[in-house]
Amino acid sequence: MSNQVIIRLENIQKSYFMGNQAIPVLKGISLDIHKNEYVALMGPSGSGKSTLMNILGCLDSPTGGKYILNDKDVSKMADDELAEVRNSEIGFVFQQFNLLPRLSAAENVALPLIYAGVGKKERMERSMEALEKVGLAERSHHKSNELSGGQIQRVAIARALVNNPSILLADEPTGNLDSKTSVEVMEIFGKLQQAGNTVVLVTHEEDIAAYAHRVVRLRDGLVETDKTKSTAMAHI
Ligand code: ADP
Ligand code: MG
Repeated sequence: MSNQVIIRLENIQKSYFMGNQAIPVLKGISLDIHKNEYVALMGPSGSGKSTLMNILGCLDSPTGGKYILNDKDVSKMADDELAEVRNSEIGFVFQQFNLLPRLSAAENVALPLIYAGVGKKERMERSMEALEKVGLAERSHHKSNELSGGQIQRVAIARALVNNPSILLADEPTGNLDSKTSVEVMEIFGKLQQAGNTVVLVTHEEDIAAYAHRVVRLRDGLVETDKTKSTAMAHI
């Protein structure tokens, strides 16, 4: 972990509106995440984990408070500016893998580069580099129906990495995987952290969270506990 703060949340609030009624979901979250941290976000169902991840990933804006990402205040940005930040700084992995079944692994990984206007040759080179980082270079031409669940999730991780984002976010990335495959995926995140990436992921499972170096627990839209392990105690 370095001292460089990548994410600074100051009293983040989020309410959803049902008609005229505001329903508060995040009630004042303050948190710093440093470069190269590996953070697991935990908490009961409905505690606001996905809401917070969507704000971190610039998929949604808070209704109160401040979000500073790499020294930029993204909390007040308009949608188009936010999309730009999302495309250049954020890698997001979802529980549903969201791969396009007719495309190969390499083509799926290259998709964000098409949106970024990168030419075909460079797209394929960068896609292969990202697949190498998740140990799947030899599967680059396979389609999702020829890959296992764990391999598909690794393709989704490679796709999140292909833009060299400053943070890698994953909302329950092992939620659809059996425990052996979950461990495999967690080890990939561990390797990416060791290679210098910053990782924030949501999980329900204590043994999955044990792979992270810091565990932040939410309850009712607030941080309940925030514990960092010494590196020596970390699982990997
Ligand atoms: P978690 O991921 O921890 O299970 P969520 O962030 O998904 O929690 O949801 C927190 C609360 O916000 C829940 O009560 C949920 O019903 C509510 N909620 C989430 N998304 C929306 C939405 N788009 N509109 C209204 N309420 C929502
Ligand atoms: Mg959720």
